[in-house]
Amino acid sequence: MRLLIMGPPGSGKGTQAVQLAGRFGIPAISTGDIFRANAAEGTALGRRARRYMDAGDYVPDHVTNAMVRARLEDPDCVHGFLLDGYPRTLRQVAALDEALTEPGTALDCAIELVVDQDVLVDRLLRRAQSQGRADDTAQVIRRRQEVYDQQTAPLTNHYAERGILHRIDGDGQVARVAARIAESLAGVPVKVSS
Ligand code: AMP
Repeated sequence: MRLLIMGPPGSGKGTQAVQLAGRFGIPAISTGDIFRANAAEGTALGRRARRYMDAGDYVPDHVTNAMVRARLEDPDCVHGFLLDGYPRTLRQVAALDEALTEPGTALDCAIELVVDQDVLVDRLLRRAQSQGRADDTAQVIRRRQEVYDQQTAPLTNHYAERGILHRIDGDGQVARVAARIAESLAGVPVKVSS
């Protein structure tokens, strides 16, 4: 299975991604987690990404695309993967398509978690208290939502046109949302890749 999950900040995509990847036995690849890990370790990539993340802006496409491309070449991605938080821009959509041109490597489906704006802000402010993420302040949350609405939300149209978009109601408890995703994916034919 080759999947991706999209959704605004606070939609719960990270939590769902980990569960779903576990179910399919594929790696969950979160670009946000990779950037945060690099920032914590103080690598060159992390230092570069940090200023964008702290402002709620996207890390430049060429940096993100090169990082994802390298990750997809790791041996654990041969039989599938779940991308969490990538692609987020038109250039990233194009770069991902380019990375998946080998026969049998096309995306099987794109999941979009849909959650009401008020619920999102509430969840993010609670996460700020429990996890202390630097980009979970009220001002940065607003900026991240703005950037998502402008640059990422429209991308779902591309996947809808390809007939692989699954729009899922992301409101409610984690288990309920997971059940909705599972039900929606039940009809997706799984490609066998060599
Ligand atoms: P996330 O954990 O997915 O909410 O991502 C946290 C932050 O990492 C984002 O606000 C961006 O600054 C950066 N980031 C994560 N994924 C991407 C991406 N695909 N393109 C650009 N920046 C990203």
